[in-house]
Amino acid sequence: MSEKTNVASVDFDLVIGLEVHAQLMTQTKLFSPAANAFGHKANENIAPVCLALPGSLPVLNQEAIALAARAGFALGCDVKDYSVFSRKNYFYPDLPKGYQISQFDKPLCEGGFLDIQLKETQKRIQITRIHVEEDAGKLIHQGADAIEGASHSCVDLNRAGVPLIEIVSEPDMSSFEEARAYVETLREILIHLDVCDGNMQEGSLRCDANISLKPKGSQSLGTRTEIKNLNSYRSLERALKAEYKRQAGILASGGSITQETRNYDDQTQQTTSLRSKEDAHDYRYFPEPDLPPLILSKETLAAWKQSLPELPKQKRERYRSELMISENDCEILMQDRLLDRFFETCLSHKNSTKQTVPAKKISNWLVGECSKQLNEKEITINQSALSADNLLLILDALEAKKITQNIAKT
Ligand code: ADP
Ligand code: MG
Repeated sequence: MSEKTNVASVDFDLVIGLEVHAQLMTQTKLFSPAANAFGHKANENIAPVCLALPGSLPVLNQEAIALAARAGFALGCDVKDYSVFSRKNYFYPDLPKGYQISQFDKPLCEGGFLDIQLKETQKRIQITRIHVEEDAGKLIHQGADAIEGASHSCVDLNRAGVPLIEIVSEPDMSSFEEARAYVETLREILIHLDVCDGNMQEGSLRCDANISLKPKGSQSLGTRTEIKNLNSYRSLERALKAEYKRQAGILASGGSITQETRNYDDQTQQTTSLRSKEDAHDYRYFPEPDLPPLILSKETLAAWKQSLPELPKQKRERYRSELMISENDCEILMQDRLLDRFFETCLSHKNSTKQTVPAKKISNWLVGECSKQLNEKEITINQSALSADNLLLILDALEAKKITQNIAKT
């Protein structure tokens, strides 16, 4: 690891394990008929279950399970035919029931792995489990960013009950670069499977980072801290670096690390203690009495596995070797699912209309001029007036030299 501590004589190995939360792209919530949608007016997408009104009961959304299983299959997990929902009890105003329905000792997926590409090498990171759970609501603090200093706080329950998967890794990562590559690769897979939209800014994908240090070469793990709710690559990297420095400083001066949950503040670029680490027994987990165990037939599981779409690794290969798409364009399409879907639509129209515009030209325009204009207008390609048909017509006319480059751009 390149980053040195301020205490130059002491060298530590860095150990990182990540818990990634991904919101599933379902129409409705995990146990409620309310819409699963972002950006609406506060408390618009709610039903009695989201409010924990007396007498309301959860009904499991099958679409969410299909998406969670799809992620499991893509990550080489053992997707279970028997799993159990449990109550995780805690009090917070964004959680009207007083508990979160999650999975505990019998999750939907166990085992699995993710291969990450580093500069020179590949590394396999083991995945412990994937479980399905519901998201909490949101507190909106008035007059301040945090609860401290706010005049009052409002509760928005639109997010309460949105389906999530939590993907838990083994403590297999040993550098900041590996942690970043892990989240990037995972995001790429989830967006190409249409499991999650991967929008980190909106919180559709966020992670908790567990980090510990151990003397160089030591076999046993050190005490970890968990940094909550990191929702950008930058904050993940900065939070890990700040926490590494803090722990290294303590250890180098003979101190010991307290196992706890910490918060990262991007303003000060420091982590601060949030609460001492809670253990499973603090949550009083027990099987959810309002839901039977989730039993999936062999046929259902086989059909879901069968319908797994092409994974980014294969797609990247195909784009490069069959369609001659440049490495740069390829990377951008892999990160931007909407643009890539538009590109796929262009390809299928091109095939059905027998147009001769090279695929490489289409990707070039999408990644170049189209993205530039979309960024200027601050809209996505789906919100623009451009259709796949029209783009093909324009590029066809350009190829045939019927129009100039400038006219095409206009
Ligand atoms: P918790 O509920 O306490 O967050 P989880 O089992 O959900 O526990 O997640 C534990 C996470 O912490 C995993 O990603 C695991 O890889 C990671 N982890 C466990 N021990 C260490 C350690 N010593 N250093 C760094 N990460 C660790
Ligand atoms: Mg956890």
